[in-house]
Amino acid sequence: MELENLTITSFHNGLLSREFSALEAIQVFFKSIESNDKKIDAYLNLLKDDAISQAEKIDILLAKNESVPLLAGVPLAIKDNILIEGKKTTAASRILENYIASYDATVIKKLRSAQAIFLGKTNLDEFAMGASTENSGFKITRNPYDLNRVPGGSSGGSAAAVTANMALAALGSDTGGSVRQPGAFCGVVGLKPTYGAVSRFGLIAMASSLDQIGPIAKTVEDAAILFKEIAGKDEFDSTGVNHNYSDELLASPINKIQKFKIGIPKEYFVGGIDKKVIEGVEQAMEKLKSLKLEFKEISLPHTKYAISCYYIIAPAEISANLARFEGIRYSSILEVEKKAKTLKDLYFKNRGFGFGEEVKRRIILGTFVLSRGYYDAYYAKAQKVRMLIRNDFVEAFKEVDVIISPTTPTSAFKIGEKTKDPLSMYLSDVFTCPINLAGLPAISIPVKKYKLGGNELPVGFQLIGKPFHEADILGIGQFYEKI
Ligand code: GLN
Repeated sequence: MELENLTITSFHNGLLSREFSALEAIQVFFKSIESNDKKIDAYLNLLKDDAISQAEKIDILLAKNESVPLLAGVPLAIKDNILIEGKKTTAASRILENYIASYDATVIKKLRSAQAIFLGKTNLDEFAMGASTENSGFKITRNPYDLNRVPGGSSGGSAAAVTANMALAALGSDTGGSVRQPGAFCGVVGLKPTYGAVSRFGLIAMASSLDQIGPIAKTVEDAAILFKEIAGKDEFDSTGVNHNYSDELLASPINKIQKFKIGIPKEYFVGGIDKKVIEGVEQAMEKLKSLKLEFKEISLPHTKYAISCYYIIAPAEISANLARFEGIRYSSILEVEKKAKTLKDLYFKNRGFGFGEEVKRRIILGTFVLSRGYYDAYYAKAQKVRMLIRNDFVEAFKEVDVIISPTTPTSAFKIGEKTKDPLSMYLSDVFTCPINLAGLPAISIPVKKYKLGGNELPVGFQLIGKPFHEADILGIGQFYEKI
């Protein structure tokens, strides 16, 4: 089995033609994890026994010549803020170090019934706060293209696992860029669905009005297959939308796409972006021109306020969502418990020990912007700005069908390069967080197929679609990959 070019469809065909069994396939992936993850540290926890017994079940079905779904046996990595029943789920936080999930997230339930296999839980920035996976409470994940660099974040473990062939595809979550930015840094595809398209039930909440679960994969087609499987409203997420994606979901047809106008937002092509990134995106645009797509400059005038707006709204929601973690209800921190004298003291000690620096910073910021004296000046104002940012897109989408931009201003940066300067870390999301504020779907696609072991760092470009028009960006992406 050749892992490098394996996709979901070729995996499925391999199973059906008995080129390999599900068990053999899983074992190849665990071997790859064994030899690669010592250096990369993408996984927090492996689920080997469950994976093997699931693979055996699929092999029994195949032996009986029963039909199996497209995702049967497909080995996936799951970000460790998504619950899998009976398994440790930490969100890479010490405060949840011993937490065992008591139910499956809806996305897990769906993938389970499609017979996909979960290889393990991947590392992330604690509670998904960060852009480098350096904020994990447990370890730093490294970029498979250059071990001295970050894989991006917060879904860095998932992206690195896919890149290093330690999973065929993965799930991440994206609140301000956390699926797309690591996708771009690791040379893989990352899709953030429209807000409400995928149930957030069983995703440990960071900022509830921005969070979405999305696939990370080697090809746009694989991302589309996974998205189709996990999309849909359930009764447990009141913000879900039951959009009826048609059969076109996997890709809008070429005759539709060829009538598209692609918007180039002038505010996204400004100073401060790496030359290599600009060159990469220009190269992608050149390629897209061969599909006869028309390009048009547009303006998203409130872009410059997006980061400030995001870093008021996200911390506000974080401070509310993280109030529930006191180190008692979900799991206890025994070493701290022994030292605490009163209940209040235990709360202080648990939260003091259990949360990392970045998480504390955001809880404090969020509490501040929601406090009575400052609510109007910060939180209420940020909500108004959010509406302006959203309206920029509404106006732009009157003129164009899809918008193109770089995914990130730079390629993967060095480990430690930005940890002392939170603001420069926050700027990594300058092109991705406006899309969460507006609730739109967006995908990061590698400009080209990069080679592990080469001396080039991957660059990604971003396609942004109208709400629930995932098929448009997935369609363009799939044609792009074929050029
Ligand atoms: N880097 C951004 C942040 O730290 C986005 C994180 C995310 O999308 N989860 O908030």
